[in-house]
Amino acid sequence: MSPSASVADVVAALGAELPSGPTDPAGVVDLLVKGVEGGLTAMPSGRFFGFVIGGTHPAALAADWLTSAWDQNAGLRTVTPAATAVEDLAETWVLDLLGLHPGSAVGFVTGGTMANFTCLAAARGAVLARAGWDVGQDGLVGSPGVRVLAGTERHDSVDLVLRYLGLGAPELVPADDQGRIDPVALRRMLGDGDERPVVVVLQAGNVHSGAYDPFVEAIAVAHEYGAWVHVDGAFGLFAGASPAYRHLVDGYEAADSWATDAHKTLNVPYDCGLAIVRDPAVLRAAMSMHGDYLIHDDAGDPFEKVPELSRRARAFPVWAVLRSLGRSGVAELVEGLAGHARTFADGIAAIDGAEVLNDVVFTQVCAVFGDDARTREVVRRMLADGTAWTSGSVWHDRAVLRISVSNWSTTDGDVDRTLDALRAAAAG
Ligand SMILES: *Cc1c(COP(=O)(O)O)cnc(C)c1O
Repeated sequence: MSPSASVADVVAALGAELPSGPTDPAGVVDLLVKGVEGGLTAMPSGRFFGFVIGGTHPAALAADWLTSAWDQNAGLRTVTPAATAVEDLAETWVLDLLGLHPGSAVGFVTGGTMANFTCLAAARGAVLARAGWDVGQDGLVGSPGVRVLAGTERHDSVDLVLRYLGLGAPELVPADDQGRIDPVALRRMLGDGDERPVVVVLQAGNVHSGAYDPFVEAIAVAHEYGAWVHVDGAFGLFAGASPAYRHLVDGYEAADSWATDAHKTLNVPYDCGLAIVRDPAVLRAAMSMHGDYLIHDDAGDPFEKVPELSRRARAFPVWAVLRSLGRSGVAELVEGLAGHARTFADGIAAIDGAEVLNDVVFTQVCAVFGDDARTREVVRRMLADGTAWTSGSVWHDRAVLRISVSNWSTTDGDVDRTLDALRAAAAG
């Protein structure tokens, strides 16, 4: 599970010297494989439960290899029709599966962070435009300003992208014991007399508890105050594709933008995220550019929906996994991950001295095994044991062992073996 080689080991195995001349490419690939082997972490494993990452579905992996081999610069509709056609299809299918407005635009970005960035850039432009300010033309200096409200348990990437956007730190809205934003507090803060244009950032899937913000109430309140509502659903948005978990995202379709990863719950390789904006014109206003050498198409070009101009054709693997799984397969993927998390929660709760701290509603389980020192010791033993990869974290000021189920290939047997290892680690 954990690598046996350090960074220095891998450097030594590859050799630090820049060769003075050419090497046969096949020889280089052999050298690379031998040199890096020990430094690889078993992240594609069905027993990797660290962070919130996701595995790689075989159809997506093969499509990703082809994406590199085909080497399309996927920005322009008329220049790369294959990539654009597949992106158009994947866009339509994703919106359909998630139950989001079919006219929304989907930008294929590198991940959740850039999806949040792209959506919040659109949000910034839209709320300032409503206040009569053109941020594209006149910048932020001298503008009416934008206030951004987010829950105390938002993902840190929200703060990061607000820095990119020159909007500063968000104002924090209190959350409940599961990390869900409190709509009553949100209303109080929105009604405090601050007249600046406002953006509210909600969350579908808390990285510790898996919890979802109460979208129906929170979006209604935010819209009452004229706010743009963005939903960060990096791993959690795909609950919307499962009839069994759809209730978690009830009402989220009323938001203005949504960010999700394809490289997490959807199990495509890195790096792939989806920036979804209800009003395509607003996204285009934030992200498009002009170049006399670009061959524009009236139907809209893929580059107009993302921060990058040149980029790989990220939609190929997204289309491939959706084409392979179909509607029911995506639902089963989501239900499988969440079902395994449920089994983990039940298994851990039965261990002497262990306690699951969160309501396990989706794919995340946060557990303690006694005091902080004891929990950290269990985390350490699990890593040393190597049956599975689970990470530690801190949630609500307590050290926790966090299990995140996000790989399509995890089996019941993987969960059983990991629970055995946990029992041993907790007992030892
Ligand atoms: C992972 C995650 C992000 C960041 O996504 P990246 O793909 O790592 O950039 C943002 N928000 C949430 C809730 C996440 O889980």
